[in-house]
Amino acid sequence: MRVIRNVAVLACTLTLVQVAAAQAAKPVVRVLGTGGTIGSAGGYWTGNATRVPIDQLLKISGIDSVATVETEQFLNVSSSAIGPTRWLELNHRITDLFQQRPDLRGIIVTHGTDTMEETAYFLDLTIGNERPVVVTGSMRPSDMAGADGAANLTSAVRVAVDPAGQGRGTMVMMDDRLFAARDVTKTNSTRVETFQAPERGALAIVDPEGVFYHRKSPGRSTAQFDVGTLTDLPRVDVIYSYAGADSVAIDAVVAAGARGLVIAGVGRGGSTASQGAALRRAQAKGVVVVTSTRTGSGRVPIGTGSAIGSGDLNPQKARVLLMLALSRTNDAAQIRKIFSDNQ
Ligand code: ASP
Repeated sequence: MRVIRNVAVLACTLTLVQVAAAQAAKPVVRVLGTGGTIGSAGGYWTGNATRVPIDQLLKISGIDSVATVETEQFLNVSSSAIGPTRWLELNHRITDLFQQRPDLRGIIVTHGTDTMEETAYFLDLTIGNERPVVVTGSMRPSDMAGADGAANLTSAVRVAVDPAGQGRGTMVMMDDRLFAARDVTKTNSTRVETFQAPERGALAIVDPEGVFYHRKSPGRSTAQFDVGTLTDLPRVDVIYSYAGADSVAIDAVVAAGARGLVIAGVGRGGSTASQGAALRRAQAKGVVVVTSTRTGSGRVPIGTGSAIGSGDLNPQKARVLLMLALSRTNDAAQIRKIFSDNQ
């Protein structure tokens, strides 16, 4: 009898040891919640949404078989409340975490989708680590029929723990597809398949079987810009061009202290004669001008003229790069090279 009991105790202990070993071997990821639709419930159409904490959002069936997931409520706001100061705070937190926690396989950031592409591109340019940062969100609140947040979070965890995700910088995971932060943009106001990379396409398909990369991404294990000591970025405004646009908006933002301007131009970066005259006045005061396109895709040649073309960076991405460039130099030739190097 005693022998049988001893055998049972031994078997039980072995099982516990095996479970503990499996848990110890499981990769660890950390999710920083910042808010957005993914972190909301109710009141979607009336603007009365309630906030859902990040640890609640991670109560997803089966996720603990992929990784040990830690959560941190970094912010809980709409992405319209996230700008340069918050980007810098987020950079500093992620940099610290990567330094202090060699055991973390990757970091996931949940974020409102409206300005997600800007935060993601900023992190891509400023975080220097082999381990990935994966930004995700959702188009539907957590309690809505067809909510996409849990699926996007699960895919983001798969990407963060996948060895092939190393050295790829910051990526955006939405609707079963993984994108390079540089390339992705929100193209539709409401649909779940809103994120696209118009000129370059997605990096990978993500499904329960795994992460399937089908093209290379610019490897980033070093930060292009060191923002460790910065608490703000130089002011850069985006100015839209349209039929009959005058010079008022350009003169106003220059008077407000803009050090750079990005023109969301017509076609290949064009603007009206009145805007052109205002841009020349701005340049005479040392303001750096970048021309982009409002069309949603295509290139504006970087060129050699007085304005710098953005290549295929859309206006909001060109603004992020110009802010960072201006934090390093005011020299237009050097800034032109930075835009060229980021094509
Ligand atoms: N307004 C929300 C935000 O960007 C939209 C979303 O998350 O999808 O915070």
